[in-house]
Amino acid sequence: MSENCTHDCSSCGENCPSRQQPQSFLEKTNDLSHVKKVIGVVSGKGGVGKSMTCALLAAASQNKGNVTAVMDADITGPSIPKMFGVHERARGDEFGIYPCVSKEGVQLMSMNLLLENEDDPVVWRGALISGTVLQFWTDVIWQGVDYMFVDMPPGTGDVPLTLFQSIPLDGIIVVTTPQDLVGMIVSKAINMAQMMNVPILGIVENMSYLTCPDCGRKISVFGESVVDSIALEHNIPAVAKVPIDRNLTLAADSGKIEEVENNYLSDFFDKIVAELKDKPLATAHNTKKDKEFLQMFCGGLKIVAAIYIGCKFNVKKASYSQSAVDFQMPQC
Ligand code: ADP
Repeated sequence: MSENCTHDCSSCGENCPSRQQPQSFLEKTNDLSHVKKVIGVVSGKGGVGKSMTCALLAAASQNKGNVTAVMDADITGPSIPKMFGVHERARGDEFGIYPCVSKEGVQLMSMNLLLENEDDPVVWRGALISGTVLQFWTDVIWQGVDYMFVDMPPGTGDVPLTLFQSIPLDGIIVVTTPQDLVGMIVSKAINMAQMMNVPILGIVENMSYLTCPDCGRKISVFGESVVDSIALEHNIPAVAKVPIDRNLTLAADSGKIEEVENNYLSDFFDKIVAELKDKPLATAHNTKKDKEFLQMFCGGLKIVAAIYIGCKFNVKKASYSQSAVDFQMPQC
């Protein structure tokens, strides 16, 4: 042990025999799961096209011959199954939950695949949402997946924080639109990823422009593009600009996102794959100190909420039957 030892290995540069490795808080997958690379798709706020980006990336990946999966962690706004035209309920047995599979073979798990009625709203507090979304990682049997895309909940709140901590993300892709305000908000998401030590693989500016159907000129509907300056500022290697394209909306709404002729993110996906080759395998993203701080912070919030509302959180695990997954709405 060094003479100056403070017992805080996370801030010490000494190479002494009693050095402790940062403790991993990553959750294990189901024993039957195999997932090679996990990529989070994040945005600073909702409605910027994060799910669209996630779906296009998954479609591009599958189209290039990779076994691909999408974990829809946007529990309160789950739009992934609809985009892929999947409306059946997930099935499960004593080994775990089986993902639904799209027409082209993309494995999917989403809150909407567990609800009896896909129009049912999910009106839960953060703790319940985090618990459920983690089960998508720990209980679902993901089969031989090369690339998994996680449609993260928007913003920098409790649920994305839990996911950053618990799932071994190999990197994230940030989605933004050209508005200044969103540029500011997206910087928060980028800073959060950097705080959690998750590499930012690329940034997508969605609704970047509109192509005039008559003259082919690009019109910047939401103002001039901000993505290049954000990428430069944060040293983000891959950049893509996706236009407003009615064909994308139509394909998403009719469950045919895999059939879009012009997948604007096909080349971007190749750049991401190249980026991932240079990255070490995802390991622990947080030290014990970070975890304790986050737990204290979240615990404090829960206590305050419980005092005000007189409500006790109780996360019930999903129970599985032989047929469709019998998902029980947690009681508040
Ligand atoms: P988020 O996941 O960020 O909340 P979505 O991906 O669900 O946003 O997109 C919101 C809506 O905008 C959806 O109806 C989607 O089909 C549409 N949309 C997203 N990106 C585009 C685009 N580039 N062109 C046309 N429509 C788009």
